[in-house]
Amino acid sequence: MDPLIEGYRRFRAETWPAERARYEALAHWGQSPETMVIACSDSRVDPQTVFGAVPGELFVVRNVAALVPPYEPDARYHGTSAALEFGVKVLKVARLVVLGHGQCGGVRAMAYGAPPQARDFIASWVEIGKPALAAAGPAEQGRLGRIEAEVVRLSLANLKTFPWIAEAAAAGRLALQGYLFDVHTGVLASVGPDGLEPIE
Ligand SMILES: [Zn+2]
Repeated sequence: MDPLIEGYRRFRAETWPAERARYEALAHWGQSPETMVIACSDSRVDPQTVFGAVPGELFVVRNVAALVPPYEPDARYHGTSAALEFGVKVLKVARLVVLGHGQCGGVRAMAYGAPPQARDFIASWVEIGKPALAAAGPAEQGRLGRIEAEVVRLSLANLKTFPWIAEAAAAGRLALQGYLFDVHTGVLASVGPDGLEPIE
């Protein structure tokens, strides 16, 4: 049996009857999530699970290493920036959250190179994180963890290179927040300018 189809059948049998009214309201009124999350594609770090959210609450874009690229309005394919444009300009979310995590394969590729069998896109994508490598310093002890936190700070800084994000943040209409999720312990920490603050 296909585990996806089995999961879908559980969803139809158990979740759908309980959540039907919510889905119908979302279909009728459209979505109006208050929060947009930029997260990693890692299968262990699902924002809806980590934040205990329900359908309609989070507008999510996931990519390798939860990176926000700098604002580059050229003719190239900017998936993350397109999602940001929709979330901020159309949905008018009140909060942008960058959710990084421990044991991030994307951060590992940033620090030590992309896997040899995956050379087409990862290496150039994680180039965005170069300033985070410098900020994390050269010492090997705990280096990946320091880079993971710096990547969240970098993504938050890059968000402000989007003029309409900087403007909304300055006007107090948009809050920017960074978090790191530890897969081992399940603990979420707030990423501040000076350090990590575990959420009680
Ligand atoms: Zn990751």
